[in-house]
Amino acid sequence: MFLCNNRGMKLESDGIIVAMRPFGERDVVAHIFTEKFGVLSGMLRGATVAKNKPMVGQVGVVAWGARLDSQLGVFHFEAQKNLGVSAMMDANKLKYLNAMFALLVALLPEREAYQNLYAATIDALAELTPDSYLQWELVLLRELGYALDFSHCSNCGRTDNLIYLSPRTGRAVCGECGAPYVGKLFDLPINLRTTLRFLESVCRGLDVAVPDYRIFLQHK
Ligand SMILES: [Zn+2]
Repeated sequence: MFLCNNRGMKLESDGIIVAMRPFGERDVVAHIFTEKFGVLSGMLRGATVAKNKPMVGQVGVVAWGARLDSQLGVFHFEAQKNLGVSAMMDANKLKYLNAMFALLVALLPEREAYQNLYAATIDALAELTPDSYLQWELVLLRELGYALDFSHCSNCGRTDNLIYLSPRTGRAVCGECGAPYVGKLFDLPINLRTTLRFLESVCRGLDVAVPDYRIFLQHK
C-alpha cells in the first residue's frame, strides 16, 4: 500500500528491524528493512518503555509515515516473530547477524526496494551458518551491481578447472587462462576474504566505511 497526499506519505510492508539507537528517554530511531520499500528509517515512539519492546532481528508488519516537512518518519511496528533469537544464544551466529544488518544499513539507499535481498535475508537469518552467510553476501553484491559469476571461464568458456576469480570483472578464470596472472587474481572457491574485497569496492563507491562487524568477521 502506498498513499501520498499533500500532508505526507504512508507506507506499509513486512519488515525486519535491523538497527535501533536510543533517542531521548522513551523513543528509538530505527532502521527497518522492508520487503516492499527497502530500508526505512524513523522513530519508534515509546519503544524503550513499551511492554513488548521492539528488538533488532524482529520481523513484523511495518507502517511508516512521514510528513512532507519532516525528514524522519514515524513507525508503527507489529512484531510477528524474532528471527534473531537463535543468534542471541550463539556468539558465532550473532556475528553473522550483526554483519548482515550493519551492511544493510551502510550500503542500501533508503526507500529503494530490494525484494530479492529481502527474501535472501529472511532465509539467511533462519540459518546463520558460514555458508548461508556467504551466499547472502553474494546476493547482496549482485543487488549492488557486483554480480560474481562462477559458471565458466570468462576467457575461454570452459566450465572446469575454475580456480581463479578476476578482481576486475568478478568472473571466474580457469587455471590455464589465469596462469600468467597468478598473484593478481583471487583464488576460488569464494570465501569471506574475497567477498570483503568486493564489499570494499562497493563502500569506496558509496564513500562509506566497511562496517566493523563485517571486518571482524574475517578473524575467526
Ligand atoms: Zn579459460
